Amino acid sequence: MEILKQFYSNEKVKQTLVNFITDGRLPHALLLEGEAGCGKTHFARLVACAALCNSTQKPCGQCRSCRLILQDNHPDVLVLSPDTPEKPYSVSALRDLILSCYVLPNDGEKKVYILRNIHEMSEQAQNTLLKIIEEPPAHVIFILTCQSRARILPTILSRVVTLPISPCPEELCAQALLERNPSASEEDCLRMARQCGGNIGRALTIMQDEKLSSIYDKAQEAAKLICAGSEFDLLCLLNSYNRKKEEFLLFLTELRQIFVQIIRQKNGGADKNFLPESLLHRVSALQSMRIIDIIDTVSAEANQNVSVALAGAHLCSAIQQILHS
Ligand SMILES: [Zn+2]
Repeated sequence: MEILKQFYSNEKVKQTLVNFITDGRLPHALLLEGEAGCGKTHFARLVACAALCNSTQKPCGQCRSCRLILQDNHPDVLVLSPDTPEKPYSVSALRDLILSCYVLPNDGEKKVYILRNIHEMSEQAQNTLLKIIEEPPAHVIFILTCQSRARILPTILSRVVTLPISPCPEELCAQALLERNPSASEEDCLRMARQCGGNIGRALTIMQDEKLSSIYDKAQEAAKLICAGSEFDLLCLLNSYNRKKEEFLLFLTELRQIFVQIIRQKNGGADKNFLPESLLHRVSALQSMRIIDIIDTVSAEANQNVSVALAGAHLCSAIQQILHS
């Protein structure tokens, strides 16, 4: 069970899985719910390991079966994502999947279907999936993941065991980031962990992706310019996103998150400074909240075909008004 310990945080969910294994009653359908990047697919693989492990200490993470699952190479474990060219969540593809369920496993006693992000399935597709979830063959286990159960049909929800997967405490997330990026500084990892609310997957994506990493740096820079009241420099920075709508939207998401952290820091929620006090005292918590509102408005505008140049100018002038009111 060492391998379960390596899954950060989520102690209750891990204990539930251990109880299922010990009692020999792993449900035939599980739904893992949680935000993107918090480890749902990884946990789904651990459940698959638990179902197919050859050791007495399930899931061992060491036996051939566990190793093949963790390498995404096990013939009886199928992982499907909605964003692949095969369109696995079309109704016809799901009908084929249902037929494949009746074929016996190649290797072990069970077949595991990991269906990621099923909140992206249409209602019709979910109804098709329901048919097999209602009465699957005894050798089949479904592990579904979704970001929000609000987008899943109640008929599916009533037939699965839902387990919530949460981001980690920020200190733990920072530790995970440092383990994976030994060249990064402890402080950077902690700042990134805070920025991402303890979401390891999201933090790693930003740290390992040059484009995202530069967007994150620019958002930090913009927050400093806002606090310092350097409107002209802010406008220049925003202008660098002209005709780069997608990057601009990501930038706004990061900038918003920084102001969420600023409010937390002001309320004593962060034990280490997120931004230097010299900048922080220039913006009140109320102003930060209004800045978050305007970031949301501008994001919506940019999403609705307002040009980045115009949206950026709006953001800049609105922030100026907030700071001088
Ligand atoms: Zn094993």
